[in-house]
Amino acid sequence: MARDFDDLIKYIDYSNPNTRPDFLGTLPDICPICTYSISPEYILIYFKGSWTTHLLCGCPRNECGALFFAEYQESGNQFYFQGCYPNSKTNKEFPQEVAELSPNFVAIFNQAHHAEQEKLDLVCGVAYRKALEYLIKDYVLSMYPEDDSKIKSMPLQQCIQKFITEPSIKLMAERATWLGNDETHYIRKWVDKDLQDLKNLIDLTVFFISMSLKASKYKEEMVR
Ligand SMILES: [Zn+2]
Repeated sequence: MARDFDDLIKYIDYSNPNTRPDFLGTLPDICPICTYSISPEYILIYFKGSWTTHLLCGCPRNECGALFFAEYQESGNQFYFQGCYPNSKTNKEFPQEVAELSPNFVAIFNQAHHAEQEKLDLVCGVAYRKALEYLIKDYVLSMYPEDDSKIKSMPLQQCIQKFITEPSIKLMAERATWLGNDETHYIRKWVDKDLQDLKNLIDLTVFFISMSLKASKYKEEMVR
C-alpha cells in the first residue's frame, strides 16, 4: 500500500485484495468492547503522520457490532501492533453487605477503577483514597449513628483510631489510609509501596468489614 508522510485515509475494498490490511502484520482477534474472539470487518486505514497507523474495524457479532480502532507504530517499514481502543471497562464486584453499607464506596471505587483502566494511574490513587474514606465512614456511621456530624467531619485516620475496635479492620484500614494519603501528597512516605499495595489493603479492609457485618447479622438473628 502506498505510503507518504502526510495524514492519509485508505478505504478497504473487499473486492480489491491490494487494499487488505495484511501488511500491518498482527491483526486484532478480540473485540475490545464485547471481549469475544472475532475476525473483524476492516473498514479503513488511517495513516496519521509518519509513525502511527489506525485500522478501523467492526465487530461482526450481531449483539455487539461495535466499531473500534487497532493502533500500530511504524518503525523501519515494520508495523507494530499497540492495542485496540476504546476498551470496555469492567466493574469490580463487592460483597452484597458492603454494597448495601456504602453504595458511594462502590461507585467511587469503580470510577477509580475505570480511570486506572484508562491508564490514568497518576490520578486514580486519589480516587481510591476517597472511596476508602466512604467505606470506613459508612461502616463507622452504621455503628455510631448518633455521632453522625462528628464522624463525617473527622479526618479519616482519627476516625479509624477512635471508632474502629476490631484489630483486623483497624490494622488494614490504617495502612490503606497511609498509602492513600501518599497518593494525595507531593512526597511519598512509603516509597516501596505502590497503587497495587493500596488496592490490596482496600481489598483486605473490605474483606474484614464484610466478615464483621456477616457475623453481626447472625449474632442478631440467632439469639437463644
Ligand atoms: Zn464486539
